[in-house]
Amino acid sequence: MNKDLQNLISLAQIDKEASQLEPQITNIENELNEKIKLQTQVQDELEDLRNSVKKAKVSINTNELMIQENNDKIEQIDKKMSSVKSEQELRALDAENGLAKEKIAYANEQISKLEKELENFASKEQEIQNRIQELEQEIQDDREEAQKKTAKVRAELKKIFDNKEKIAKTIDNKVLIFYEKIRKWAKDTSVVAVKKQACSGCYIRINDMVYSELLRSDDIITCPHCGRILYIEQ
Ligand SMILES: [Zn+2]
Repeated sequence: MNKDLQNLISLAQIDKEASQLEPQITNIENELNEKIKLQTQVQDELEDLRNSVKKAKVSINTNELMIQENNDKIEQIDKKMSSVKSEQELRALDAENGLAKEKIAYANEQISKLEKELENFASKEQEIQNRIQELEQEIQDDREEAQKKTAKVRAELKKIFDNKEKIAKTIDNKVLIFYEKIRKWAKDTSVVAVKKQACSGCYIRINDMVYSELLRSDDIITCPHCGRILYIEQ
């Protein structure tokens, strides 16, 4: 077999190994990013919760003011009661008094509801803060783990590329450029074996003429159908 072709087969094998390793780094990084994304989501949740707490507190204040106002009103009504002159006036004051008391009762009801909500918010907040702390620890651990893993993969890749460089040096430059050109589109199937007289890149049968040339010749021959570099498995 053509010496360049023989080396090209090794080179293609090395490129294949490298392209299988490279996604491992991306996968490791993606996993870590997912967890960081989750942490951001939980932090947003905490932010939302704190806004709800603020709103509830404002609402409690408003209701307390309402109670204050209506208490003042009742006091004034009581004062007027002492100098009431007619039955009609008395009824009107009574009605006003009743309305003020209703408003106070309603505001008190609202306040106790809001206070219960605040209690729930407090325990929820504690929960979320615990979760954030857990995630922080997990991310720290995962980050260390990811760094170790990617370093290992990068070391493997370096070994592969060093090996590639060594082999590439032994191949004629024109052949190498030709291979890289095919690799742009054929990726890891740029150099393929002929099996049962068919190209194992495009699976189309190779005619007898090209096939016999492949068997005899010492040239680098490409598939007439797809253009991949062919070799006979030995
Ligand atoms: Zn082909």
